[in-house]
Amino acid sequence: MPPEGITRFAPSPTGYLHLGHAFSALTAWGRPGTCLLRIEDIDRPRCRPEHEAAILEDLRWLGLCWPEPVWRQSDRLSHYTAALERLMALGMCYPCRCTRAEIRAALSAPQEGATTPPYPGTCRGRSMADATPGDAVRLDLRRALALAGPVAFTETGPLHPGRHTPDPGKMALDFGDVVLARRDIGTSYHIAVVVDDAAQRVTEVVRGVDLFDVTPLHRLLQRLLDLPEPVWHHHALIRDGAGRRLAKRDDARAIRRFRADGATPADVAAMVGLSLRG
Ligand code: GLU
Repeated sequence: MPPEGITRFAPSPTGYLHLGHAFSALTAWGRPGTCLLRIEDIDRPRCRPEHEAAILEDLRWLGLCWPEPVWRQSDRLSHYTAALERLMALGMCYPCRCTRAEIRAALSAPQEGATTPPYPGTCRGRSMADATPGDAVRLDLRRALALAGPVAFTETGPLHPGRHTPDPGKMALDFGDVVLARRDIGTSYHIAVVVDDAAQRVTEVVRGVDLFDVTPLHRLLQRLLDLPEPVWHHHALIRDGAGRRLAKRDDARAIRRFRADGATPADVAAMVGLSLRG
């Protein structure tokens, strides 16, 4: 592993890159060491080859380069299945056939205690041996926390710097029994991201602060799967004039649009408050 470390930019090809992505990419490439590009396309129905091509082109236009080949998560599904099977073998997964409407109904029934996790645990008594095609797979979070022990992670970003030691009781309430394999795609972002960050030897995970809150879960999965511990660098989100975070549907903020209007890469960097290196 290079002594300076490895980070990554991991866009999903569900739309054109906007200014928020430019900020994220320039932040990742501005960290010391090597920056990898990874295409996160497990959500096949939402991903488009033309968006992937446009992402590569916009990043090259910004002057960024990366080691080839670029990893595409749709090529790596067998690795995510293997990780899921390992968690199943630890006895901490169960199949779930609840629909969203059923979960909503169960959660709106009178509950003991003021706070409840986002999934009421309806299927927790089922075993993987009874899974039927089309079931999702959930992680029994309390069991997982009991096996892994408390988790901790280090943040290098400017917003929440330092070592964090999330409270396990709060984690169980915040996450509940999260879905590790969606019924439609057989895996999940959580599994794919920890498996690939480890496989690509990522030492610093750079991403938006909207993902800060799921980091304890990623650290827990790394512990359960015996994966190395990176550090995380969560950066601020770029917002529009009304204070809303940018979304891929905001074509007005797409890098392509600024390019078409004659902006230079340095102009785009300046729009997100950064300057280009070199
Ligand atoms: N694929 C995610 C996105 O496009 C990024 C996830 C990550 O960096 O961990 O928002």
